[in-house]
Amino acid sequence: MDHEAVQERFSDYLESELPPEEQAEVAAHLESCEACRNELLAFRQTLRSLAQLPPIPAPEGFVGKVQQRINKRSRGRFFRAERLFFRVPFEWISFVIIILMLALYILLMQEVRPLATPPPKKAPVEKKLPR
Ligand SMILES: [Zn+2]
Repeated sequence: MDHEAVQERFSDYLESELPPEEQAEVAAHLESCEACRNELLAFRQTLRSLAQLPPIPAPEGFVGKVQQRINKRSRGRFFRAERLFFRVPFEWISFVIIILMLALYILLMQEVRPLATPPPKKAPVEKKLPR
């Protein structure tokens, strides 16, 4: 792994997000390369400085503007205006369908059950023998 490849993986390396072999490769490279060790040090210091920054509150209406922009860029596929107020209640529709199927199943089972009992015996029909 060259210097550039190692330095590209600093973030994942520090969070142990790399696959084990890559994690070991980066560690081995850092052992033998002073330039990358210094880069890692600078990277860590940058992260530490960023973490000390106070959180900045989002400007008013930020979420709405982001949603509008996503809607525009996705050509209306996401965050459609009517979707914010009207949503198809899929949970309730599937619930009703399940209940209907269960009712249908019970109904069909009741119609089938009488066939399972042996049919009533018919009185033997007397055959008229020709004389
Ligand atoms: Zn290096």
